[in-house]
Amino acid sequence: MMSAAELHAKVRTVHGDSIRVLQVIPPSSLNRLKKLRLECGKCGNEWTPDAADTLRGFGCRVCSTEKSKATKNAQKISVLQKYGFAAHQLDGWRLKYKTFRRNKIAGGFECSITFRQYMKLAARAGLIAPTQIGLRTKQFQMARLGDSGDYVWGNCRFITADENLQEKMENGGTDVAARKISKALTGRTKANSADKASAAKKLSKPFRLVSPTGRVYTGSNLVEFCADHSLSESMMMRLCRGGCRTAQGGWTGKYTGDRGDKVKRL
Ligand SMILES: [Zn+2]
Repeated sequence: MMSAAELHAKVRTVHGDSIRVLQVIPPSSLNRLKKLRLECGKCGNEWTPDAADTLRGFGCRVCSTEKSKATKNAQKISVLQKYGFAAHQLDGWRLKYKTFRRNKIAGGFECSITFRQYMKLAARAGLIAPTQIGLRTKQFQMARLGDSGDYVWGNCRFITADENLQEKMENGGTDVAARKISKALTGRTKANSADKASAAKKLSKPFRLVSPTGRVYTGSNLVEFCADHSLSESMMMRLCRGGCRTAQGGWTGKYTGDRGDKVKRL
């Protein structure tokens, strides 16, 4: 049986100055094992572990959690720096990345893009700050190639929100003529241009949707409808194209009518 003095010496050998033994608590009817009351020399945390665990090398949990956080941060900062971003942008980029992942997973997509891959794509798109990510027209979003498949490496990249919208319209089945028109109209919106308004009308596809509560909606501008109802455009487009049976909480629906004929007459 180790004496209290021997125990102090042994703890010192294993942990150095990082742990102070405040008290040796001998085994009792309540505790079969010998306990130690310890104080962390770095953070002042006090805890009462089994003596055997302490001698096996287990130290202060508060400090080890801090240390692993610091290690993770250091790893992320090295990723930022590798791709030319400043360390002080860590919180901003991490928030954008987390939001991206959460939204895609909530939208029913597989999202295996890592923080490293996310930053590599950001650098490739010429981004310099996390504030460039967002939903406004000149801000950037992660978009899938051809608007199909999942958010996995090789199938997505950053493009601006208006480029993304453009692609979605194109991938919704727009033909070459319609594509030329909408490109030519970049910079004007249907709110400020009669041409654009008429082009938008011709580009729009009539749809019929049934909400999760059974309410029926019909319309011809799915993008606007999604914005008004806080729905994911890509999910609802996939739904209307017949790519899935239900979307986002139980919506069902489809495109009605054929836009193709109207476009050809332009
Ligand atoms: Zn500590």
